[in-house]
Amino acid sequence: MEVLDRVATAASVVDKGVSARLAKLGLCTDLDLALHLPLRYEDETRITPVATARDGEAVQIEGIVIECAVQYRPRRQLVVCVEEASADRSGLAESITLRFLNFYGSQVKQLVPGTRVRARGELRAGFFGREMIHPHYSVVRGDTPLPDCLTPVYPSGAGIGQALLRGAIAKALARVDLAETLPDSIRERHRLLAIDAAVRLLHRPPPDMNTEALFDRTHPAWTRIKFDELLAQQLSLARAHAARRERSAPSLAEGGALVAAFLAKLPFRLTGAQRRVVREIAADLRAPHPMQRLLQGDVGSGKTVVAALAALQAVDAGYQAALMAPTEILAAQHFSKLSEWVEALGVRVVWLTGSLKKKQKDAVRQAIASGVARIAIGTHALIQDDVTFERLGLAIVDEQHRFGVGQRLSLRSKAHARSRSNDAGKSAIQPHQLMMSATPIPRTLAMTYFADLDVSTIDEMPPGRQPIVTKLIDESRRDEVLVRVRAALAEGRQAYWVCPLVEESETLQLRAAVDTHATLTAALPEFAVGLLHGRLAGADKAAVMRAFAQGATPLLVATTVIEVGVDVPNASLIVIEHAERFGLAQLHQLRGRVGRDSAESACILLYQTPLSAAAKARLKTMRETQDGFEIARRDLDLRGPGEFLGHRQSGDALLRFADLQTDQWLVDAARDAALMMLSEHPDDADRHVRRWMRGGEDFLKA
Ligand code: ADP
Ligand code: MG
Repeated sequence: MEVLDRVATAASVVDKGVSARLAKLGLCTDLDLALHLPLRYEDETRITPVATARDGEAVQIEGIVIECAVQYRPRRQLVVCVEEASADRSGLAESITLRFLNFYGSQVKQLVPGTRVRARGELRAGFFGREMIHPHYSVVRGDTPLPDCLTPVYPSGAGIGQALLRGAIAKALARVDLAETLPDSIRERHRLLAIDAAVRLLHRPPPDMNTEALFDRTHPAWTRIKFDELLAQQLSLARAHAARRERSAPSLAEGGALVAAFLAKLPFRLTGAQRRVVREIAADLRAPHPMQRLLQGDVGSGKTVVAALAALQAVDAGYQAALMAPTEILAAQHFSKLSEWVEALGVRVVWLTGSLKKKQKDAVRQAIASGVARIAIGTHALIQDDVTFERLGLAIVDEQHRFGVGQRLSLRSKAHARSRSNDAGKSAIQPHQLMMSATPIPRTLAMTYFADLDVSTIDEMPPGRQPIVTKLIDESRRDEVLVRVRAALAEGRQAYWVCPLVEESETLQLRAAVDTHATLTAALPEFAVGLLHGRLAGADKAAVMRAFAQGATPLLVATTVIEVGVDVPNASLIVIEHAERFGLAQLHQLRGRVGRDSAESACILLYQTPLSAAAKARLKTMRETQDGFEIARRDLDLRGPGEFLGHRQSGDALLRFADLQTDQWLVDAARDAALMMLSEHPDDADRHVRRWMRGGEDFLKA
């Protein structure tokens, strides 16, 4: 039946032009139209006597036109005087004026005296009595019945009026088959309305309806719609999850010699949380199907060492590992850290970024292809077509939120050379994938957008870390800040000075960095000051970063290139200029550059007044909490899921009706229902997904 709905397109009943316009809104089938639900309603089911209506209230009145004239003062307008029809009954004839500033000649003819009209709009007190400006109106007869339901107002687009939508939707509703897809047990458990009843009620709510519940979408009919939408999403995610279990990946044995030797040499003990996530990852890597796991942990929680252990498990098992980072600086840092850790164990690590010279690049690519290199670290240069791995067993993406879905998939698709040539097509072995992020994704979001992703969380900081003292300081007091910087440097500590974000222009941003560098160099003649920005050549960036990491330049002036991942534990002070321009996630990441050992650290947020309300809220949050999860939660509140995830992450808005912030309980209910339906009612699950997913399924697999 469902299939038939899809075939019986709206085109068969409305003319071509109309269906083309509807198609622009994505409304191609009867089902599409039936699920195009109202934004709000207008109440045309009642006539309000003028005498009882308050000024400013939106009401519908009915009356007979007494006079209709085009006036020219103060400007051309159509003025229609109407005597209330309810006067028939009450004897209190009130007349009101309908005023139209834009009108057609046809309206003048239509509204001749004696015509009965219904007009809906806001009543207000005018110079000549009460009036309505630009009311919606219709010409009626004495016996024209009032509508018996609220009038829906639909989301529309250019060239598509409400009347057209209402007509097309009414016709679609007469034909569409909204057979139930939920098993009774689920409907009963969550007290859900039947889908058919819910859809029809939302399109034609009876006049005595609780309009508030309709409007704020808490009405049971809305609950059913949201549940169905979330269920469809959970069903397809669960399917993607199951499909992944069908694909093959190399089974990487645990307990190898390299992992053991690495742990023995590590200068610190792993935290309990680190040990737990290492176990979770190790178990996934041992399985013969591809891991797809997100490792989240706040800035500074120690994700890199976990990644190194996973990489070594792959190498122990005779495979290669790749680690991709979003910036060259971070890739370089990972490279120097990992080489230091594992080269002594005889594991060859290489790095590949866009800025290497051609000859070097060729040599690195050759080492990766031949398998001499066991661990490859790099930027997205790693996912270029000309990079081929001998046997890639594990792909790690650091700071995954900085990459697009496509880029992440691309690293995963780097099937290793050997299996690519041997077994073609579907059976090709895929590497495991580990993604890392310090921007925690709140649980509900993770469940709805990335449910085919297992999540491991590091919820504990390495021992001895002190809270970072965060101060908000007005720009006019920067002299005091300089004093603090000098004091910190004099104690042998290091500091970052982050230059303002200039969104409009990279050139301006660069200039700000250069200027700040000059000012600070002059103000602190006794200390060497480094300068780091995006325009430096790769080798120069690396040199500046090295000098800072080794303490040769105790102060580093930098643009946001240091935003993610940079790890120099001796740095204990960070100054962020024009902090009001940065987003919460960014500020949290930047602040995370300090507080990386047991010394006390501070973060100074310099701001310029006046502050917008949003900027105030962000700065306040930064001062109040250092918990990345809490910050992410507030960020989500401030910006909503679409912006929070960014378009790159979320794709198009996947949820039309459910709201993750208010409907959390529904997400849980939908997920349980999805698991139950897949095992006990797979056919219903099929029908359900087909009804609700309009081609959005692919994205969910990423
Ligand atoms: P992030 O999670 O932000 O990527 P890093 O992996 O860069 O954090 O680790 C932050 C710092 O903490 C590094 O200097 C790292 O060597 C150190 N570190 C990691 N784990 C521990 C631990 N268990 N004990 C002490 N220091 C640790
Ligand atoms: Mg990191």
